[in-house]
This record gives sequence, C-alpha cells and structure tokens, in this order.
Amino acid sequence: MDMEERFDALLRDTISFLETGMRPMSGAVQTENQTAPNPPVRYDPALDDEIRRCQKCRLHERRKNAVPGAGDHGADILLVGEGPGEQEDIQGLPFVGKAGQLLTKMLAAIDLSREQVFITNIVKCRPPGNRNPLPDEIETCLPYLERQMGMIRPLIIVCLGGPAAKTLLKSDLSLTRLREHTHRYEDKPVIATYHPAAVLRYPEKYKRAVWNDLKLLRDLYRNLRGL
Ligand code: URA
Repeated sequence: MDMEERFDALLRDTISFLETGMRPMSGAVQTENQTAPNPPVRYDPALDDEIRRCQKCRLHERRKNAVPGAGDHGADILLVGEGPGEQEDIQGLPFVGKAGQLLTKMLAAIDLSREQVFITNIVKCRPPGNRNPLPDEIETCLPYLERQMGMIRPLIIVCLGGPAAKTLLKSDLSLTRLREHTHRYEDKPVIATYHPAAVLRYPEKYKRAVWNDLKLLRDLYRNLRGL
C-alpha cells in the first residue's frame, strides 16, 4: 500500500467508526458495556505518588525520578510513549527532551496544547541507556497505565511508537501495519503513529505519515466532540 492508499484506508476506517458509533474495529480489546455513558471519575493523585515510590521492577534502581505523566487529568486525548529518556528522568516529566519539543509542535499543528491532553508512557522509569523496555518491565508497569486510563477516561488514545502500540493493542504486528487501521482499546479508538524521536531521526521517512496521523486525530476528535 502506498502512502495515499494507506491514508485513504485510515480515513475509511475512521469514517466507518464514526458512522457506526461503537462498532469494533481491528485489534480490538472488547468490554461488555460499550455504550453506557461514563460518569466522571476524579484522578487520584495518590496514584502518582505510588508510581514515584514504585520499586516493583529493576528500573527503579537507576532512575532519578519516576515519571507518572503530565497534562489534564480529565483529558479527551491520552498520548502514550515508550518510556522516559534522560531529560524526563531528570525532570520527572514526560516528553521534555528533543522528542518532546517536537511532540509539542505536532500537537500545536492540530490546535492542541500539552495542557489539553495527558501524556504518559508504557513504563514510568527510564530504561538504562534508553534501551527498549523489557517485556517483564512492561508487564509490571502496565497496571499503572491501566489505572490512569480508568480515571482519565480519554475519548481517544494515541500510541507513539511501536512499543506503546504493540503493548496496548496486544499485537505483534509492526507499527507500519498497525497504522493501517484505527483500533480500539476497550471502548476507545486508538491511533498508532511513529514516535517523535523516529521523526527527528528520519524526517523524510516519517513526517508525512505522522502528519496524516495527526490530521486523522484532529478529525476524529472534532467528530467525537461534535466540534
Ligand atoms: N520518549 C518517550 O517515549 N517518552 C518520553 O517521555 C520521552 C521520550
């Protein structure tokens, strides 16, 4: 599939999702009660303290700070990256290094600020030397993200990079394949896109695809919100 066909497929998926309400799409994780309105749930700050004190896996040994996440605790859009890098570890905040600066610009390009969304990661502590998080580290940390999602109750989840997408969608498919569809996590649409660090590294390879994903996010958000 070339880029244009892929974008068409994404749009088709999204339009059919919008037209059919809560109809499941590919890679879906299902729950029973999909159409019930969500009563508001307040984000419990004790969860962030628990994350900051966590010693459940080896990643706590070399961290400076755990990074629970940042942004609006009632956000419509939740962005999930892979894990904190060096700057994030120092500051205790997600996406504050070079990739984070690009992420801020990417959001601004679709009229979103960082304060409007919630940004977090699959693992909350920096893997040494920025290696990929290991499967057991992801498994140990995932319940924190699940609890965050249960309280934030976003309308849309955006996975930044392969590890986030594969973990949340419980899939072994490549990110390139996962990008071909809008997926679901429980009752929420999930958009998978390339990590901003990949765009920084190979701009010519990824920037058009990411821009298409951002437009998809913008259109899906506007439609779901009736804007
Ligand atoms: N990369 C990530 O995946 N997450 C961050 O918080 C920073 C860089």
